[in-house]
Amino acid sequence: MSEKRQFKAIKGTRDILPPDSAVWNWFEQTARQVFESYGFRDIRLPIFEETELFARAVGAETDIVGKEMFSFFSQFTSDERFEDLEQRLHEELARDPGEEKIRALVDSNDPQIPGTLSQAAAKVRRSGESLTLRPEATAGSVRAYIEHGMHTLPGNQKLYYIGPMFRRERPQKGRYRQFYQVGAEVLGPSDAPGIDAEILEMLLALFNRVGLANTKLYINSIGCKDCRPAYVELLREELRKVKDQLGADSQRRIETNTLRVLDSKLPEEQPIIEKLPRISEHLCAACRDHFEKLKIELALREIVYEENWRLVRGLDYYTRTTFEVTAAGLGSQNAVCGGGRYDGLVEMLGGPAGVKGIGFAIGTDRAILSIQEGGNLPRLAGLDVFIAWMGAQAYPAAVRIAQKIRARGFSAELPPEEMKFRKSLGLADKLGARFALILGEDEAATSTYTLKRLADAHQEKLGEAALLDTLEAERKGTRA
Ligand code: AMP
Repeated sequence: MSEKRQFKAIKGTRDILPPDSAVWNWFEQTARQVFESYGFRDIRLPIFEETELFARAVGAETDIVGKEMFSFFSQFTSDERFEDLEQRLHEELARDPGEEKIRALVDSNDPQIPGTLSQAAAKVRRSGESLTLRPEATAGSVRAYIEHGMHTLPGNQKLYYIGPMFRRERPQKGRYRQFYQVGAEVLGPSDAPGIDAEILEMLLALFNRVGLANTKLYINSIGCKDCRPAYVELLREELRKVKDQLGADSQRRIETNTLRVLDSKLPEEQPIIEKLPRISEHLCAACRDHFEKLKIELALREIVYEENWRLVRGLDYYTRTTFEVTAAGLGSQNAVCGGGRYDGLVEMLGGPAGVKGIGFAIGTDRAILSIQEGGNLPRLAGLDVFIAWMGAQAYPAAVRIAQKIRARGFSAELPPEEMKFRKSLGLADKLGARFALILGEDEAATSTYTLKRLADAHQEKLGEAALLDTLEAERKGTRA
C-alpha cells in the first residue's frame, strides 16, 4: 500500500483561484485593450529557451543569470551520481556559454565530479542542451524578431506579451518564483524619443485605467556603448577607493557589475553612493540630446516623472532610457514596472545591425496587490441568472431557456438536480446571482417564467421574448 499524502504548490508558486482569477483576467484584458489602442499586437512566446540566450542577453554577471534561473538539460536522465556535476555545469554554462567550459570542467580531474571522467564526459555529451524557464521575455521577443526576419516588416514592430516568468528568488510578499508579467516591446529602425515617451504614456494610461494608486515614474539615461564604458571605468576607480567601507555585495559588484552598486539599499552605503560621479555628467552629446528630447516629449504629454540618476536596472542590455514605476501598498517590493531602451541587443543576439529597441514589463502580481490594497478593485460581473426549476415538467423548459439566456451572452446556472424552491433561492443568493428565474409546473404549463431580482425581491411573470428583453435592458442600464 502506498502511503497517503497530500501535495502542495511548490514554494514561491501559488494558485490563483476564483473569484481572484476574475481580477487577473480583467487586468490582463484591460492591458490588451489599452495596448491595442496604441497599435501593439500580441506575441506568444515559448516558456523555455536555450540557457545561452538569457546568459548573452540578460548578462552572465546579473543576479538573474548568476543565481536565479531554473535550468535543466533537455535529455538528462536522472542519476544521483551526476547531480552535483549537473548543477555545476548549469552554473558554468550560465556564466560562460562556451563549449570549452564544459570540456575544461570534465577534463579537470575535479574530485567533486563523481564517477570516472570518461563516464562524466559521456553523460554530459548525451545530456543535450541546457534549457531555462524564461526569467523575462525581452530575450525571447528579440530572438523571435530575429528568427522570423521581422526587421523586413515595415516600420517599428510593436509587440506585447502576457504570461508567467520564473526566477529562483527568496519568496516574500510581492516576490514569487513563478510570477506574471504583462510587457511590451518596440523593435525597429527608429530610436526617436517619441517612442520612449509613447510607451510611458501607454503604461500610465493602463495604470490609470485599472485604478493603480500613487504611482511614481522614475526615469534616467544610462548612456550608450560610446559613453558608458568610460563612465563605468571612472565609477569603478572611485569605488575602489572606498571599497573598505562597502558591504560584500557591493565590493563584489565593483568588478563584476559596477553600475549595480548604485542600486544598493544598504543604509550605510547611501552617503558614499551619493558622492559618486553621476552618469548625467558623462553622457555623450547624442545621449544627452536623446534624454533632453525625451523630457520634452514627456512634458508634451503632461507626464509627471522624477529623474533618478541611480536607476540603472540590473540587466546588461539596457542603453540610454531606463525607467521604473512604483506603486503604493507594496512594502519593500514596490516596483510594479521596469524597462528601458536596448538598442544593441538585436545585433548582439545575431540579428541585423541598426535595429533599435525599447520595452517594459509590469509585474502583474504586484499591480493587482497594490490595486487590492488601495481598495480600488472593480465590481466584476458575477452570475446573471440562477434557474430555480422544480418538477419533471419544468426541467425541459429550464434546459432550453438556459441555452437561450447563455446564447445572448448572459451567464446562467442550471442546477442539474431538482431542488426545493427555498433551497434553490438560497443557493442563488449565495452565488451572488442578480436574478432568479423561477420555473415551476405552473410556468411550464403556461410557457412563462417568473423573473425575480434578488436585490429588491421585485418579481414579474414574463414570456420568453419579454424575459430576454428585460435582461438586456437591465444590462444596458447597469453597465452602460
Ligand atoms: P524586472 O525586469 O526584473 O525589473 O521586472 C519587471 C517587474 O516584474 C518588476 O517591476 C516587478 O513588478 C515584477 N517582478 C520581477 N520579479 C518578480 C518576482 N520574483 N515576483 C513578482 N514580481 C516580480
